[in-house]
Amino acid sequence: MKIHADAGRCVGAGMCALTAPELFDQSEEDGTVLVLRAEPSTAQEATARRAVQVCPSGALSIS
Ligand code: SF4
Repeated sequence: MKIHADAGRCVGAGMCALTAPELFDQSEEDGTVLVLRAEPSTAQEATARRAVQVCPSGALSIS
């Protein structure tokens, strides 16, 4: 699994970092998403999918 984040679509809502703090953080400058771990472990995959679902702007995707 690989996580993709489109910072241009991110509105800085922070849902990803709240849902999966081990995978996402937010920029201190503008609040946009920072991917901490683009290739989550097997144990983190369900959390990664949840974070993609809760993102209100559709900035996150998984391949
Ligand atoms: S949940 Fe979506 S919009 Fe909010 S910070 Fe994360 S990627 Fe950006």
